[in-house]
Order: sequence, then C-alpha cells, then structure tokens
Amino acid sequence: MENLQKAAHDAGFDGIGVTTASPLEHMKPILEQAKDEGRYPDFVEQDVDRRINPRSVLENAVSVIAVAVAYKTVEPGPTPPLHGTVSRSAWGLDYHRELEKRMDQLIIFLKEHYHAKACAKAVDTSPLIDRAIAIESGLGIPGDNCAVYVPPFGSWVFLGEILVDAVLPLGTTSSVPTKTCVECQACIKACPTQALYAPGKIKPQRCISYLTQKSGQIPLEFREKIKNSLWGCDICQQACPQNQSAKVSRHREFRPIVGPHIPLIPLLSLSNKEFKDMFGPTSMAWRGKNTVQRNACIILGNQGHPEAVEPLRQCAASHPSDTVREAANWALRKIESRK
Ligand code: SF4
Repeated sequence: MENLQKAAHDAGFDGIGVTTASPLEHMKPILEQAKDEGRYPDFVEQDVDRRINPRSVLENAVSVIAVAVAYKTVEPGPTPPLHGTVSRSAWGLDYHRELEKRMDQLIIFLKEHYHAKACAKAVDTSPLIDRAIAIESGLGIPGDNCAVYVPPFGSWVFLGEILVDAVLPLGTTSSVPTKTCVECQACIKACPTQALYAPGKIKPQRCISYLTQKSGQIPLEFREKIKNSLWGCDICQQACPQNQSAKVSRHREFRPIVGPHIPLIPLLSLSNKEFKDMFGPTSMAWRGKNTVQRNACIILGNQGHPEAVEPLRQCAASHPSDTVREAANWALRKIESRK
C-alpha cells in the first residue's frame, strides 16, 4: 500500500482507499427506498443495479481506488450587495478535468507496478455512487449532511474512482475515526429548503445545489430560499462544526478564478463568448449561460436593490431565453412589491 500511497500523493491526490470491485449490495435497499419515496435524483443512472456495481463501468474490474482531492482554499465571507455566491467546489479549475489528469498519472503507475491492463476513470458523472465507494474503501466517513468527510480535510473534498483489472492491496491512507457527527444537527437546522430533513437523508429535488444547476424554471416555492446562491450551495457544509478546522488544500488550482462572489448586473448582458471566457475553465460552464443568468435575476429580485431594475427590464424585454425573461420579470415584480 505504501508505494501506491506515495504514487497517489505524487499524482496530486490527498487520500485514497482501495476496495474490491464487488457490488455494494447494502446500497440497493437504500436506493430503492429513495425511489419509492420520490427522493431518487433524476440526474443520475436510474438502474439501481448499475449504480451499485463497479463492473458497470469496467466489466473486468477487480479493484477500485477511491480518491479524494482537497479543495478548501480561502474563506468566502458574506455576500456583498448586487453579488451572487458560488459554491467552493466551482471557484477554481474544473475539478472533473483536474481529477482525470491526476488519474491518468496514477494509471501509468498502476500499469507499470501492478500489471494493470485496463483501467477506467469515474468522476461525478459515472453511474457509480462516489460517496458510498469512498466510505466502503475506508477513505471517508458519512456526515449527517450526506457529505463524506476525509480527515483532515473535512467534507471539502472532490471524490472519484479508478477501476482496475488487477489485484491491489486493500486499505486506505486515511486515519478515519469511527464517527464524524456530534449529533448537533447544525446542517439540518441550516438547510434553507429542508432538503436535508433528517440525519443522512436528503430530498435532492429541494437542494439548492440541484436547483441552481437544473435547466428550465426554478419552482416559485424555492426562489426566495435560494437567496444569494448563484451556483451550488455550501450551507450545510459551512454550518458543520467539524468543517471549521478543515485543513487548507495544497492545490492552487482550486483557488478562486470566479467567486466566491460575482457581480450580478454584468452577468445579465454577457455574450456567449464572454461567458465562455469567464466560466469555461470552471465547472460552472456546463449548463450554459442562460442558467447562470436565470439565477442572477432571481438573486437580484431577492436582494431588491433599485440599481438592478433597469438591467432587469432590459433582460425581461430582450433576452432570447423564455426562462431568463420569466426570471427577470419575477425579480422586477419582487422589487416592485417591496416599495
Ligand atoms: Fe440544504 Fe444547501 Fe445542503 Fe442542499 S446544499 S442540503 S440546500 S444546505
């Protein structure tokens, strides 16, 4: 394990855990219950058997390396007026690309030292449940806020997996305590939408992280609750006492390129090229410009500053997207109702 651990650290990982590629059978009833209760996310693989089975990504997988990369950098501070706040995970370079680069480097080592012939990378968009595999491998422990904690980095970690067709030494680099949560329920109390409704239980469709990244209109019941969130939501992680002393990341690439807070009015009139120049290197670009502009309108409505009225009027009159025009009109009505 030691040489694998060193290779992983040299490749830029802050923790790994190695487990077998056996299906995570204990997750099946949990996922099926989520389906029955309407809590199963619509943006992930719907076939539960594929989600629990690493061999749905690499047919002849024998081992799975769960990886973690720490991303806590600066403290965000409060949102200034006429700004929107971005989740820490999106401040720096796109973590999908950053993790895949590191995985490519570690795969070279696996082929040289462990006779691996086939390896596959999984970051966020694969059918697999990153958090469940991180826990299974011993890399992390679950928090009541549904995040995975990898000491000493708290829950501020990007997770992914490398599937390997070779036998690897099982174990982890983490010295993980058996318990994270102190049963304070600070995360549950802090959640603005009650998406987090019980320890370890979430309704993904109510989560601000999901709502700010979905396409189309944001349901009316959530618009005020989104408050200043331009992209993602860190509230339940920020509220956690265990996260207060989390170690800062050694990786400069996750320092803010955008955010923590972004001026909203200039966002409303960005061209496609300006949007790509500004957000292209980050993970905020994947849903496109209209989603970010829709969110900017909603925050401007929530903040209610008169300076936003004219830019919102222009947006409502001439933006090519129905969704953005609707959000701008909602924001104008909201500001008007405060007078
Ligand atoms: Fe609630 Fe935000 Fe946590 Fe989602 S990310 S569960 S909205 S606090």
